[in-house]
Amino acid sequence: MGIALVTGASRGIGRATALQLAGEGYTLAVNYHHNIQAATGVVEAITEQGGRAFAVRADVSDESQVMAMFDAIDRTGEPLIALVNNAGILFQQCTVEELDASRINRVLATNVTGYFLCCREAVKRMSHRHGGPGGAIVNVSSAASRLGAPGEYVDYAASKGAVDTLTTGLALEVAAQGIRVNGVRPGLIYTGMHASGGEPGRVDRVKSALPMQRGGQPEEVAQAIVWLLSEKASYVTGSFLELAGGK
Ligand code: NAP
Repeated sequence: MGIALVTGASRGIGRATALQLAGEGYTLAVNYHHNIQAATGVVEAITEQGGRAFAVRADVSDESQVMAMFDAIDRTGEPLIALVNNAGILFQQCTVEELDASRINRVLATNVTGYFLCCREAVKRMSHRHGGPGGAIVNVSSAASRLGAPGEYVDYAASKGAVDTLTTGLALEVAAQGIRVNGVRPGLIYTGMHASGGEPGRVDRVKSALPMQRGGQPEEVAQAIVWLLSEKASYVTGSFLELAGGK
């Protein structure tokens, strides 16, 4: 069938997405940054369910590491047909007046530059213009791009605004080259990410403010990503799915 690369697939939404995509028949490239144990666990879980997967370490904010990751994918001899740009970070909740340049740049390097670099390398391999088989890309954004995350992490929210613009622009740029590009905007999802913001229990604290009055599970986001990558979404590009319980 072909390879699906999921960045940040060792945990959370990326992990759930990798498991579901493997069930659809893709060979999974399970990208991770630090947590080799978790990434190996995802590969083992996929293998145990009869799928195919390999782990590939790369800091997506580092261009040379991204290049090495795509080289490793090329060496398998199987074509890359799907990319899920999912690896994302945020830091301790604070106001804009407390932000410094070093933190802002770290957030943008992973959440924006990392997405651009992976899109670039994927397009080079998928595009009909380069003799590629075509393919599909899903960029994991956030409801924060609409809501702004005031008092928490406006830097993170702004990075997701950039992801949305990347999604729109790239979708139009490669629409005639056999590549579809779409975005998902999760809201409050139960993952370890909230601990990075200093509040592991954040979803349960704020969930009653959501129309659906509950947080989402990583698997619920994964289902939308799998659909957007599939042939069932063959006429969908430049679109965004809100996965935020109605907010
Ligand atoms: P998570 O549980 O914190 O997992 C983050 C993943 O990203 C891990 O696999 C981590 O790898 C990887 N990662 C971090 N920095 C990386 C880098 N520089 N290079 C490569 N991989 C890197 O996060 P999550 O909640 O699943 O979030 C996934 C995506 O959904 C993010 O883009 C996030 O912004 C978005 N999102 C999440 C929520 C939510 O409520 N959770 C809401 C909206 C949007 P290691 O395991 O090796 O550290």
